[in-house]
Amino acid sequence: MKTPLEILNKQFGFNEFRFHQDQIIESVLAKKDTAVLMPTGGGKSLCYQIPALLFDGLTIVISPLIALMKDQVDGLRLNGVAASFLNSTLSVNEQAEVMSDIRNQQIKILYIAPEKIFINEQQFLNFLKPLNISLFAIDEAHCISHWGHDFRPEYLQLAVLKKHFPDVPIIALTATADELTRKDILEKLKLQSPKIFISSFNRENIHYYVESKQNWFPYLVDYLKKHKEDSGIIYRLTRASTESLAVDLSELGFSAKPYHAGLEKQTRDLHQELFIKDKVKIIVATIAFGLGIDKSNVRFVFHVDLPKNIESYYQETGRAGRDGIKSDAILFYSRGDLVKLKKFCEIENNPAQSKIMLEKLNKMARFCETQTCRRKFMMNYFGEEYPNYCGSCDVCLSKYEKFDGTIVAQKALSAVARLDQRYGVNFVIDFLRGSKSEKILPWQTKLKTYGVGSDKSKDEWRQYLNDFIVMGYLLQEEGQYPILKLTEKSRAVLKGEETVILVKTVTRKEAEHKEQPYEIELFSHLKNLRNHLAEEARVPAYIIFSDTTLLELATYLPQDFSELAKISGFGEIKLQRYGKVFLDEVVDYCRKSDLPSRVMNKFPKRLRKPRSPRASERTDTKLESFELFRSGKSVTEIAAIRNLTTSTIENHLAHYIETGEIGINELVTPEKIGQIEKAIQLHGDLLPGLLKNELGENISYGEIRAVINYLKLKNA
Ligand code: ADP
Ligand code: ZN
Repeated sequence: MKTPLEILNKQFGFNEFRFHQDQIIESVLAKKDTAVLMPTGGGKSLCYQIPALLFDGLTIVISPLIALMKDQVDGLRLNGVAASFLNSTLSVNEQAEVMSDIRNQQIKILYIAPEKIFINEQQFLNFLKPLNISLFAIDEAHCISHWGHDFRPEYLQLAVLKKHFPDVPIIALTATADELTRKDILEKLKLQSPKIFISSFNRENIHYYVESKQNWFPYLVDYLKKHKEDSGIIYRLTRASTESLAVDLSELGFSAKPYHAGLEKQTRDLHQELFIKDKVKIIVATIAFGLGIDKSNVRFVFHVDLPKNIESYYQETGRAGRDGIKSDAILFYSRGDLVKLKKFCEIENNPAQSKIMLEKLNKMARFCETQTCRRKFMMNYFGEEYPNYCGSCDVCLSKYEKFDGTIVAQKALSAVARLDQRYGVNFVIDFLRGSKSEKILPWQTKLKTYGVGSDKSKDEWRQYLNDFIVMGYLLQEEGQYPILKLTEKSRAVLKGEETVILVKTVTRKEAEHKEQPYEIELFSHLKNLRNHLAEEARVPAYIIFSDTTLLELATYLPQDFSELAKISGFGEIKLQRYGKVFLDEVVDYCRKSDLPSRVMNKFPKRLRKPRSPRASERTDTKLESFELFRSGKSVTEIAAIRNLTTSTIENHLAHYIETGEIGINELVTPEKIGQIEKAIQLHGDLLPGLLKNELGENISYGEIRAVINYLKLKNA
């Protein structure tokens, strides 16, 4: 029998497993119920596809994304995997054909959608019962939970699986699940002591930038000009703004189409398809766009308007870079958006929900205003640790300079004071700059502060006022009229008792390019070749080969079949089917340009990125506590982080005393060690409760357990 690694190499053409793929596959092969949380693009599919090929019987994959099924199945078939799908897009005849293939055991992997295909549970079971099923894979498993953002009632049917097929393992997979949803998935699917795998949610290849929303359009156009070859999504809040932006961009010669729920279904589907097939480079969309988009080469995601919460932002930016290649997520931020969005947080008759939404929105704003690493902020938000520096967000890439902004602040604050704290940002700026606008009343032009800020542009003032708001020197009222008011902190500044330190961005570095240089022209030839083949096969281009594969070809320039086999994405079948045409293209290019093979440079591989610092796998709860302990956290801190009691944490750590990985002195003071040792000599170590009684309040169970284990180690 083949090993999982052999299948990965030969059938899928990849060199090594990512994240915890190997452990997950091992768990499934051992017929354990398994739950997998992995970010988008992490490689969840292989976690059930490889076991499916190793099991005798049929693997059933349940997925809600009907639109994707055909592509997934086509992709598998191109790798020589016998796969098929059943959903309501098939005619009755086609369905019957698939059924007969299944009965004749000609299929290893069957995708089904839990929708209209089965009118009721009984029919579903009748279909499944006679089959020799080895594994159920539940994709997008969060759809089973009311708590998730994408609840689908049909998914509740899946509860019957465990009841009727107690011996068939289930693997549940999702890229989005908070604590609550996660628990729900396990419960509703009735998983039996599941093994749970959680990968770090850090998307290393996505670079995060937050830019000021002033002048966003020229910024956008400039970016798009520099990235003419790339595909991307531009999110906007309203339907009308997606349409007008798509028109504006088209007029400038960009290939852009709008997408929102208000468009005719036909138009929507067309735009989506054009985008997926690389015929349109840019989609300008509301958040209705994206679910079920499996396009792997989305190179940039813009948010022109502020997202409502960090979850959405993470998910929407997450559509970039599924192929692992560097991609950009750029958000245009303004305080005005924050004020505007706050109104949407009001849910009638539901103050509790409104409050949660408002808090989430405020977190989102804080993310934009933070002067610390954005990636760290986001990872911490999702409960993961991250170092202070990522090197690939605008904060980490910028050099800041501090300067004394007291005088600027005094001008702004006194303007607000003189105007009786009755105006908003725009008016205050006009006033400061001595505008001749009629809005400014005659008596106001006589005030001392009128015109004292004429040396600065509107944009500069806007930035300053924003900084003062963030720093708490000014307050912007919420609601319909965002009036500026003074705060407690303003008075000290006005009286000259407090210095205001501001920072400005002096330089912005480019993120370091980890990628090797590649032949740009060849890459473009290869894309054309791929698109041509995709056209012939009537599948999206990325199903033939992902951009990663083409990029590797254009980087390493393989010269023969054995070298070609080292390129990720070339499994045996694809080597046979497409090897020659791609090789010819590369060899031809290299001959003309006199370039040698660089396949030797592939090891250590470009794709092998360092594991992110805490790609911690939380299957082992003890290990998680241990890692936190090693990162310098105290027992109390770990307990708080993990939402467990201190005695549980002490017990976890005690385990590592016995293995010798934690020294006893790290956990217990010498004095206490002496006392506990004495008690153990008297009473033995079998009854910690008795020892605890003897030793009194001051000494915890965890400490006792630690010393017991320490003595075991010492006497072993
Ligand atoms: P997910 O479902 O988690 O979003 P996919 O299963 O679609 O991710 O995988 C994302 C991409 O990564 C696919 O193009 C897939 O072929 C590729 N991939 C998965 N596992 C590996 C691996 N071990 N090595 C290289 N590429 C991989
Ligand atoms: Zn950073």
